[in-house]
Amino acid sequence: MNIASLSSSSTYGNAYIVWEDSKRPILIDCGMSLKRMVASLEALGMTPRDLAALFITHEHSDHVRALCLKNPLPEKYHIPVYASRGFWEWYLNYRGYRIDLSLVNVVESGQRVRTEGYRVQAFSKPHDALDPLGFIVEGSTGRVCFVMDLGHVPYPLEALLRGTEYLFFESNHDVDMELRSGRPRPLIDRVLGAQGHLSNTQAADSISRLATKDTREIVLCHLSIDCNSPEVALTAVQSGLKRAGLSPVLSVAPPGELAVYGSGRAVSHSRASS
Ligand SMILES: [Zn+2]
Ligand SMILES: [Zn+2]
Repeated sequence: MNIASLSSSSTYGNAYIVWEDSKRPILIDCGMSLKRMVASLEALGMTPRDLAALFITHEHSDHVRALCLKNPLPEKYHIPVYASRGFWEWYLNYRGYRIDLSLVNVVESGQRVRTEGYRVQAFSKPHDALDPLGFIVEGSTGRVCFVMDLGHVPYPLEALLRGTEYLFFESNHDVDMELRSGRPRPLIDRVLGAQGHLSNTQAADSISRLATKDTREIVLCHLSIDCNSPEVALTAVQSGLKRAGLSPVLSVAPPGELAVYGSGRAVSHSRASS
């Protein structure tokens, strides 16, 4: 299984791609400009026309930028889009963006979608958005889950994610840095709240419970540029894993650059050196 983070932050947006060698790739979120997205895909030897499907987690702009255009990404390249009912009500009724309705697919928490040989399971998550979802993508070589933009990890969600081979997991902020950030108090309260974003400590606690010997790789995502640092986040999660006696590959997704994970790592290295 190959996974790439095209961008991972509130500031630069979020978009992730999953593919297996014999299958077309699928995209999770599209919170980047079309220009950046096309450039990132080209760096992977792909174009937007290769994308088999797009799954949207929620309507916040750092996840949907390439949908909120006069000629949105899926319309331009004819890509089916899967999102929650709440998302589509927002997108189609309130924003008035135009998209071919044959591309619109409603997916609900607990539902499994089969596309291009992948099984994609949606799950709901506590975040201040309209019916927000996370996704587990299962291929023939493993499963990857995308767990970001959530204020806490409810126990049933931890149970669902337990033992997933590849974890893309939010580690948004260090609580002390957030409190000392000088940001407006309502924003701080939102980020720290039960429907906001996961702190490093919350991520570390949750990961230490849901990772198992089957967990191959953990990528910490959606780090705040102002209120976190890769070193602080990695240290917190590493110590949680150590307590649990686990040592999967652990890294941080760069906020605004392409990075490749899973078996795709080897592909990107060989491309870079050829
Ligand atoms: Zn976000
Ligand atoms: Zn959000």
